[in-house]
Amino acid sequence: MSRKEEHGEKLDKFALSEIVPAPSDFILFDAEKCTGCSGCVIICPMDLWKMREGRARLEADYREKCMECGSCFIACESGAIDFTYPPGGSGVVYKFA
Ligand code: SF4
Ligand code: SF4
Repeated sequence: MSRKEEHGEKLDKFALSEIVPAPSDFILFDAEKCTGCSGCVIICPMDLWKMREGRARLEADYREKCMECGSCFIACESGAIDFTYPPGGSGVVYKFA
């Protein structure tokens, strides 16, 4: 048992982060190219992609939650997802003490 478990503490993954919504869209999704493979749904660590009627759908508020890992872009073999990094200081901003 770890020290955290012994003391009943929970790890807060956002304890050293701040959410600063990106000023504009940085993920573009082309539903016409989506084959419904679910790759983006499976790989997104923030659970921002959902399947609906055989196609992927990105959460409307993704700019406030996306960790900018780019995994959905890499996982999509059909080219339905385009990703560019948002401006620095926006998105999930990590603070290091
Ligand atoms: S970039 Fe990462 S966190 Fe953001 S939507 Fe894609 S897989 Fe999810
Ligand atoms: S990875 Fe691409 S093709 Fe597969 S469900 Fe997601 S958007 Fe559609």
